[in-house]
Amino acid sequence: MTVQHMKWWGWGVEGVAFSHDDKPSLAPFVQKVVDVDLNADPRPPMDFAELDVPESRLDEKLQRALTDVLGAEYVVATPLDRVVHAFGKSLRDLLRVRASDLRRIPDVVVYPADEEQIAAVLDAVVAADAVLIPFGGGSNISGSLEAPAGEERQVVSLDLGRLNKVLSIDEESGLARIQAGALGPDLEQQLGEKGWTLGHFPDSFTHSSLGGWIATRSSGMQSDKYGDIADITRALRVVQPGGTLATRAVPVTSTGPSVREMILGSEGRLGIITEATVQVHRKPAERVVLGYFFPDFRRGVAAMRAIAASDAAPSITRISDARETSFSFATRKTSKGVAKLMSSALIAVLRKRGWDLEQMCLSFIGYEGSPEHVTRQRKLVKKIVSDHGGICVGAGPGELYDQKKFDTPYIRDFLLDRGALADVSETSTSWSKLLPLYDKVVERANEAFAQLGVKGWIMCHLSHSYHSGACLYFTFAFKQAEGDPIAQYDVVKSAVQQAFIDADGTLSHHHAVGTEHARWLADDISAPGVQLIQGLVATVDPGRNLNPGKIV
Ligand code: FAD
Repeated sequence: MTVQHMKWWGWGVEGVAFSHDDKPSLAPFVQKVVDVDLNADPRPPMDFAELDVPESRLDEKLQRALTDVLGAEYVVATPLDRVVHAFGKSLRDLLRVRASDLRRIPDVVVYPADEEQIAAVLDAVVAADAVLIPFGGGSNISGSLEAPAGEERQVVSLDLGRLNKVLSIDEESGLARIQAGALGPDLEQQLGEKGWTLGHFPDSFTHSSLGGWIATRSSGMQSDKYGDIADITRALRVVQPGGTLATRAVPVTSTGPSVREMILGSEGRLGIITEATVQVHRKPAERVVLGYFFPDFRRGVAAMRAIAASDAAPSITRISDARETSFSFATRKTSKGVAKLMSSALIAVLRKRGWDLEQMCLSFIGYEGSPEHVTRQRKLVKKIVSDHGGICVGAGPGELYDQKKFDTPYIRDFLLDRGALADVSETSTSWSKLLPLYDKVVERANEAFAQLGVKGWIMCHLSHSYHSGACLYFTFAFKQAEGDPIAQYDVVKSAVQQAFIDADGTLSHHHAVGTEHARWLADDISAPGVQLIQGLVATVDPGRNLNPGKIV
């Protein structure tokens, strides 16, 4: 079996971990903001052997049916496989799995090789009135994979890892047919060999799949140029009970309500996506990410809005608030990137300009394309940045951000081992409501920390800009108090999510609904909106065999 999975207890692959040894400012920073001592002895997760893994409930009949379709090698019921497929990677997931709170984990994991086998597996599952949960990379943080706690039926996790090929590229149209189980590196490598890129780079890129991106409506950090996965996906093939849904790869269509859009964000509830036809682009001749400083978040956000409304078309627009900026400084290595930036000469210049360095915000703006295009974009942005009181600090910090972006996810496990709970929530709203929403979220998070009696930290960045608004991405952390960490997490997570809704944001810009955000769905899309989705799911899957309990 060649399919590789992440650690059962955390992010990424075994043997790779975050370290603060080369980041001298981090321990004092964390001590100050959440009162956690990074130098104290860590509490690593227990050994896998100590987990209390429930017995598989797979019966002989279903096992035989699955084995007939796939062969015994690809029908796996080992404890490790079943646990790895039970959850995503939210803080709730990690806390549960590390505490051996395994509930209703899959009874078996199957690894089909193609669409035909997937259809046969689904037939067998429906015939047995079992549950089927599609599994891409297992990186979601919305509770999109877990079986309902009281599920009496047999649960089959269908891992798409063997469907990882770029099938064909229509060079004339810039369209590629790609199998849904391809992880980010799989598909970028195959496209790159022919000079193409998908341009979809979520922070979870290394361990998430095309099918998972589509099923959760994912967004990558270069979405300002390439679009979100909803824009990138042009056509789909989806195995459903009783048949295979297929849409055509046309640029635009007037075929009534969009079936393509119905599948986007469907979290396995409308079938198993087996392949997608996606927009691909020639790899850009030039790519640069520049760092900028703004005197405060408000002026930085105004600059991002002005860029979105201008002729400039950068690939990344991102600005951290002052707290996230101070966190970036605290994670710096001694002599590189951001650290080098804050030379005494630069500090003197900023002070002379009247900046309060505590309020200063770090921004990254990316440019891609021909050298002429990049030069022109940089010029347009430079003027807007300067009009909003910002300055460019060169390519150094941008390069560092670019190199390190896929390492950042490892930090959460490191903190968890040391008694700090950290997670994220993100939303989008229109430009006019963005800063009031930001203020409300910070206020509500601080109230939640006070309610728990803990020292907490919330920081934010704006990313993914659109004509009418942008995404705000919040990270929160606090020291675990005595008692149930999940209950403590719920207090903060709920406060943040409720603030999104109260301030006219959406429950998630790109992390999906799952079980984690489902209770805010009616507030977000109205009760008739929820009924529409319920009707859709009930029509496609009357037996509730497909990933029940997610979204609605
Ligand atoms: P999984 O977690 O395996 O599954 C997610 C859902 O999709 C489940 O409901 C599953 O049943 C369904 N599904 C999966 N494959 C299929 C299929 N072939 N057919 C039908 N249904 C399917 N998200 C972003 O958008 N942008 C980011 O920058 C980002 N950064 C992240 C960073 C970290 C550290 C973490 C932990 C998560 C991050 N995420 C991000 C969230 C996550 O990576 C996305 O939700 C991703 O799209 C999930 O893809 P996956 O392949 O891991 O799906």
